Amino acid sequence: MPHFPAPVVSRLPAVGTTIFTVMSRLAQECGAINLSQGFPDFNAEGYLFDRVSHWMHAGHNQYAPMAGVPSLRVAIAAKVWELYGADYDPEHEITVTAGATQALFTAIAALVPPGDEVIVFEPVYDAYVPAIELQGGIVRRARLSAPDYRPDWAAVRQLVSPRTRMIIINTPHNPTGTVWTSGDMLELAAITRDTGIVVVADEVYEHIVFDGVRHESAARHPELAVRSLIVSSFGKTYHVTGWKVGYVLAPRELMAEFRKVHQFNVFTVNTPVQLALADYMQEPSRYRELAAFYQAKRDFFRAGLRATRLELLPCAGTYFQTVRYGAIADASDTDFVDWLTREVGVAAIPLSAFFGDGRDEGVIRFCFAKRDETLEAAFERLERFC
Ligand code: PMP
Ligand code: GLN
Repeated sequence: MPHFPAPVVSRLPAVGTTIFTVMSRLAQECGAINLSQGFPDFNAEGYLFDRVSHWMHAGHNQYAPMAGVPSLRVAIAAKVWELYGADYDPEHEITVTAGATQALFTAIAALVPPGDEVIVFEPVYDAYVPAIELQGGIVRRARLSAPDYRPDWAAVRQLVSPRTRMIIINTPHNPTGTVWTSGDMLELAAITRDTGIVVVADEVYEHIVFDGVRHESAARHPELAVRSLIVSSFGKTYHVTGWKVGYVLAPRELMAEFRKVHQFNVFTVNTPVQLALADYMQEPSRYRELAAFYQAKRDFFRAGLRATRLELLPCAGTYFQTVRYGAIADASDTDFVDWLTREVGVAAIPLSAFFGDGRDEGVIRFCFAKRDETLEAAFERLERFC
């Protein structure tokens, strides 16, 4: 194919390829154990696949309603009521999306006018900032500092201005594994009180909170819920990240705006998969038991890493473990993960990828959503070199 015959006008000139693609590709090229990109290396239950097959064979292969199949929206409403005591109307306040990524992008596109400001917390999941910038929004960054990565509410207050349109939060937090407290949610409620600020709450790891702590969904806090779009993902909860199905909850005025964009950027999501997920949600133990399942993996992973000089940082939720590697190498985090992938044979994510200025605190992230055999094989390699 000949080249495009003119300079390309890029809307995202500073953006390269996402770190998750870069590291997964490198892991594959090097035959490394891939603890970089966040996805399980084990399968979901056969029953879930049987339900997809059932609905396909039963002829449910055409467009679903724009907001999602009714049975799935009803099941989501029931779950949210049971867990958080919040009453969302499936007709007007719940929309099924093509993963959390589309929900986040659509929420930003629908609700951030050019020139308005959006506050994010850094290290920040890499999908938010490009989405804001594509809308002409101005990014304001609040710092979460190692080792515990807790929000500094006085600093957040300083960032709020009359142009603040949105605050995007993420608890449990990717990449640090921090879980916000009810105190944090009260601070956020106080900061946004009497403003038109919309909160986007990325809660894709809502079911992966450890040590008996409860997930502080924005849905639990009525004052926040009325100004929040709450995003979740079936990929994380049911071990099917490749299916790309998620959902968003919001009060109807916000949801009406969300759907104006949603109808034109995806219109609707895979029908038989939605119907199967609705069936699968009928048994609540499937999400209730997820925290214990991943807590056991976290404990196994942390115990394995204790035989190395990697310094474990706290992990209160998600399926990510961050570590400092300063006792092993005086290298940038990108050089360190490159060495780790090529020479040690274990891939990880450098945290500098989550900072706008590439800030490097000597911290990397491992994903422990893996079979025990995979984690054991990683321990063997890490013990030898680290
Ligand atoms: N937000 C966060 C914090 C995530 O970690 C991820 C995926 N790992 C997403 C959003 C995107 O989720 P999905 O795959 O459902 O688009
Ligand atoms: N969110 C996943 C992670 O943090 C990756 C998803 C993606 O590759 N975009 O690793």
